[in-house]
Amino acid sequence: MKKKVFHFSGKPVNYYFDASFDALKTIVPIASSVIITDENVFNAHKKKFKGWSTIVLKPGEQYKVQQTVDVVIDQLIELGADRQTTLIGVGGGVITDITGYVASIYMRGIAVGFVPTSLLAMVDASIGGKNGIDVGVYKNMVGIIRQPNFLLFDVRFLKSLPLSEWQNGFAEIIKHGAIKDAALIKQLHSHTLAAYKKDLSLTAKLVERNVMIKTKVVLADEFEKADRKLLNFGHTLGHALENTYELSHGQAISIGMTYAAVIAEQIVQFKSRNVLVALLEKYGLPTYASFNIAKAVSILQKDKKKTKDAVHYILVEKIGKGVIHTIPFVTLEKIFKGI
Ligand code: NAD
Repeated sequence: MKKKVFHFSGKPVNYYFDASFDALKTIVPIASSVIITDENVFNAHKKKFKGWSTIVLKPGEQYKVQQTVDVVIDQLIELGADRQTTLIGVGGGVITDITGYVASIYMRGIAVGFVPTSLLAMVDASIGGKNGIDVGVYKNMVGIIRQPNFLLFDVRFLKSLPLSEWQNGFAEIIKHGAIKDAALIKQLHSHTLAAYKKDLSLTAKLVERNVMIKTKVVLADEFEKADRKLLNFGHTLGHALENTYELSHGQAISIGMTYAAVIAEQIVQFKSRNVLVALLEKYGLPTYASFNIAKAVSILQKDKKKTKDAVHYILVEKIGKGVIHTIPFVTLEKIFKGI
């Protein structure tokens, strides 16, 4: 187990890389901790939860809503959770988001740690302190930026992760490469998903590299005034499509990145659209898709990243260099229609 400590707005966050879930009991006392997980993770790893107070939720994005938060809070009261309790989210991004959000409001804020179990949660959702829930079709509409106390990365959880969820994780990994790390894109081109799935030590290195990309971006701009916005590459359109078409997060942002690359060609003369699209396809992700343009644009008009007539869109100037451009809705609609 390798420990690294990062300081976010004064608060230390302990990262345990290459760790084993068993080490959790050396980080937090079992007696004052409550784990929140979902049925899929719980059923695949039952033994690991022995001895821990555990709240098991139904899996899926449709449960990342206020009603689940209410249920969890009721159960915490029943379990006698108090200000000394540490909540631990053991699961994918839905679980880490809900757990982080509940921890930030329960008794006006209690300690929280994450053990991400999906590739996507390892490389993205568990990092950076954004926690929230969805409201109707609006993703992450309600939430908070509050750092966890610790993160524990145990890639052995990935042994039970379905292939489609590996693909979802690779969408965020490709995103990191596209905006910040051209060498990562090269590495991904020379490997395959099957190779990462087979060789978890290779995956552990990939996870750490991606955790560091996201951590560095967040450290430089925790409250999303500038560079952190780049992490939304593919997400603007992606979020608009995600709930409307019941796509997974990874699929939605893969389509989002494809169209962002098209827009980037027209606005910042991006020249490597085919390299990016081929890589997304290599990792089993959808790229070009037909969608209702008017509906997508109307959802974008309620996006958190919009101004009155325009939206702050994340583009790539070249592989490894993300940039932010303000694009009027009319221009966006015209580009989408022209594709
Ligand atoms: P998820 O939590 O729904 O997990 C995906 C599926 O994999 C679920 O069915 C889950 O039960 C299952 N699963 C997870 N780990 C498993 C394992 N080890 N074995 C077997 N099954 C397992 O979703 P996700 O893809 O991990 O994350 C997506 C969510 O994360 C979205 O809600 C998104 O908004 C959020 N997110 C948040 C941030 C952030 O900064 N807070 C960043 C990116 C994404």
